[in-house]
Amino acid sequence: MSDIILKTMDLTKKYQNKAVVDGLNIEIKRGEIFGLLGPNGAGKSTTMNMICSIVKPTAGSIELLGKNPWKQKREVIHRIGYIPQDLAIHGKLKAWENVELFTSLYGIKGEELKRTVEESLEYVGLLEKKNEFAKNFSGGMKRRLNIACAIGHQPDLLIFDEPTVGIDPQSRNFILEKIKESNKKDTTVIYTSHYMEEVEAICTRIAIMDNGKIIACGTSKELKELVSNGEEDITLEEVFLTLTGKSLRDSIG
Ligand code: ADP
Repeated sequence: MSDIILKTMDLTKKYQNKAVVDGLNIEIKRGEIFGLLGPNGAGKSTTMNMICSIVKPTAGSIELLGKNPWKQKREVIHRIGYIPQDLAIHGKLKAWENVELFTSLYGIKGEELKRTVEESLEYVGLLEKKNEFAKNFSGGMKRRLNIACAIGHQPDLLIFDEPTVGIDPQSRNFILEKIKESNKKDTTVIYTSHYMEEVEAICTRIAIMDNGKIIACGTSKELKELVSNGEEDITLEEVFLTLTGKSLRDSIG
């Protein structure tokens, strides 16, 4: 099997003739935790939505797990787990019912489904709350349940779209630890965020995105070397500022 999990070639999305994703070329290898870092409106979610065949590209192409996700959707969809920015869970269902609903969509049934639901809930630390209604959960618990719904079918690639926005620090740390843990089990991860500290803490490689374009891509060390002039303790914020002329913190809406 190829080591390239995802490749985008000149991937473009236009709305009203304006490119919100503008000729994106990225290549992600098996086992990476690949960070897509950029301010709100940079085009991160649109990119993820095109990769997951939710939004149709205007131009360019995507190779996901060696296939075209638009033409071979059924073959790739069960190998990816997408944790969207907007919660996908149903408040009127119990925690276990939510996980069962999503996991069963991948054709998992019977005893295997029962076991998988328990394992997914345990993984996100919600097994003891399995009989509680999702609507009564805190923001952090809802995010964790959202993750449990996306991992039951044991995907090769997990895509997280800003999973820590608006949650408490404890849930945030829990989620970041779990992402590192899932990666140790050979799952490739794409992590989009506008929080540079998070991206730096967990990602093996980072692409900096602004105005629909990738401005730079590399390890945190490589990105810093791009602009450092030999200074040791430069931050990713300073890298972003130097490359775009904007502050990442100011651009967060
Ligand atoms: P990010 O995830 O980096 O915050 P998005 O991909 O959500 O960025 O959005 C990129 C740009 O595309 C924004 O300016 C947003 O307003 C615009 N956009 C996203 N979806 C649509 C849509 N359905 N119609 C028009 N504009 C859109």
